[in-house]
Amino acid sequence: MDGSQDTWPALTQMPRFDTGWVWLAGAGPGDPGLLTLHALNGLRQADVVVYDALVDNSILDWVKSGAIVDYAGKRGGKPSPKQRDITLKLIDYARAGKRVLRLKGGDPFVFGRGGEEALGLVAAGIPFKIIPGVTAGIGGLAYAGISATHRDCNQAVTFLTGHDQSGLTPDAVNWDGIAKGSPVIIMYMAMKHLETIAGKLITGGRSVDEPVGIVCNASLAGQEVLETTLGRCAFDARAANLEPPAIVCVGEVVRLRAGLDWMGALAGRVLDPDPLGVRGAADETAESA
Ligand code: SAH
Repeated sequence: MDGSQDTWPALTQMPRFDTGWVWLAGAGPGDPGLLTLHALNGLRQADVVVYDALVDNSILDWVKSGAIVDYAGKRGGKPSPKQRDITLKLIDYARAGKRVLRLKGGDPFVFGRGGEEALGLVAAGIPFKIIPGVTAGIGGLAYAGISATHRDCNQAVTFLTGHDQSGLTPDAVNWDGIAKGSPVIIMYMAMKHLETIAGKLITGGRSVDEPVGIVCNASLAGQEVLETTLGRCAFDARAANLEPPAIVCVGEVVRLRAGLDWMGALAGRVLDPDPLGVRGAADETAESA
């Protein structure tokens, strides 16, 4: 690409980025194609881009020349910058009259601390805008051929984080309630405590044979998908050397992958049109949920 915004007519109709503003944008799970037009429009106009570790670097190719690109994530084993410092940085740039794009992985409001940063801007009187993104728990699973909801499987879904601020399995999560009430459970940051979490769900009544899908580096070149079961997932993840970032999905929807693994199909996988074995049983004429 040549770096000229004029070559992208769609963006000429998009909002102008005023100086002194912060746009807090989601970048999606990695594949630059999952950026929204608003995020792209922000990237093209920003004077400063403050981005996190999970933003794929090729996304930064869209930044206008001369803009400051400021990395706010964890680097080389060093502790990540304090949330307060990042918020102060955004405030300083905005007060210096910059157009500040704060780019976060996935969606800023899904386990992304976007709310904390935005409230810091509110407190400082900095005008801001929120640009939602494709969250890894939905878009990342879609890249693995797993649909977060499917009429034959679930009418509800729970998103949860596998560790709290202190890094422990979150106490605030009602594991028993979720095990009993949520047919599909989509977990962020769950790899470290996977064994404990799977144990809690099994204690809560879930079957050891329940399907589990683990998607690492979803939508990126290094995407890896492991299909396993609740009883075996921690063992299998270790054996396969799976590393974060990963989304863990528990539920029957994981079986859809046999039919919906569109990326696998690109590599020659033959897809099963009836992955759940329900063909004919489902009411074809009913409104879809
Ligand atoms: N705001 C982000 C989530 C940030 S928390 C979003 O909406 O997606 C970070 C966690 O997100 C990771 O530990 C992992 O669980 C998940 N995640 C983010 N990007 C991912 C990717 N490309 N593949 C798999 N998991 C990802």
